[in-house]
Amino acid sequence: MKVLHVFAHPEPRSLNGALRDVAITELEAQGHEVRVSDLYAEDWKSEIDRADFPSLASDTRFIPVEASKKAFETGGLTEDVKTEIDKVLWADALILQFPLWWFSMPAILKGWVERVYAYGFAYGVGEHSDKRWGDRYGEGTLAGKRAMLIVTAGGWEEHYSARGVNGPIDDLLFPINHGILYYPGYEVLPPFVAYRVDRLDGAGFELAAERLRARMRTLENTPPIPYRQQNGGDYLIPSMQLRPELGELDATGFALHLNGTSEAG
Ligand code: FAD
Repeated sequence: MKVLHVFAHPEPRSLNGALRDVAITELEAQGHEVRVSDLYAEDWKSEIDRADFPSLASDTRFIPVEASKKAFETGGLTEDVKTEIDKVLWADALILQFPLWWFSMPAILKGWVERVYAYGFAYGVGEHSDKRWGDRYGEGTLAGKRAMLIVTAGGWEEHYSARGVNGPIDDLLFPINHGILYYPGYEVLPPFVAYRVDRLDGAGFELAAERLRARMRTLENTPPIPYRQQNGGDYLIPSMQLRPELGELDATGFALHLNGTSEAG
């Protein structure tokens, strides 16, 4: 497989840097071809602004959605964004790796998503009708590709468990897994999460590294998180609510959008 590894940590000698090397070494040992987008090293611009749309006249009101649509249609996106779009299209699998910062991804990685996910590419795709609501949530440009998160967290695993004070990790990562990866069509694999890492010793590192190697060995065949397909009949159109007869009786919140049980990585 062709794998794009998007890496968001400012220090190559960090734990994240070491885990990235572990992941890439294992992927290459399995015969996969890997390309890396190292966002800090490449000085990735993280904010969307007018500079992203050079053909936008200076007196024109800047409407990001419209500017993105036009630039994508006319080939007017900036070169750094076009390069990343080409890499995303090249790859059969996308890995996003980051330390959990304030219960989410570092701003630079959010900015990669915001700028690379152009209108017409990652959203605003497909037709709306009384049977379909665009191509998204399991359909879209990136359908048929796989995606997975590699995350490190300072907090304990118990703190991220079903009743843990931080909230369940699957809920915290839902906006990324479902909202960012599943939305444009990726099959999303259960995340790899290393907990309680801030004072990790050598033995702890080896355990995490071995767990990560195992996940990289099965990147091609790990079953994805069984999110429901938006246009598969489970949702009412146009309200996009889950049909009242579906879902476990005690399921609430994000778990409603699972068509079965998710496996934790
Ligand atoms: P590093 O600091 O580089 O390393 C961590 C430990 O691993 C060190 O002790 C290091 O010696 C050791 N280590 C062992 N082997 C190796 C090796 N081979 N190479 C390198 N290091 C090794 N945590 C949460 O749980 N939730 C949050 O919301 C959250 N928010 C945060 C917000 C901010 C702004 C910051 C800075 C931290 C936050 N944290 C949070 C903690 C954060 O998730 C961890 O600090 C981060 O995951 C650690 O990853 P790192 O790569 O920076 O580790």
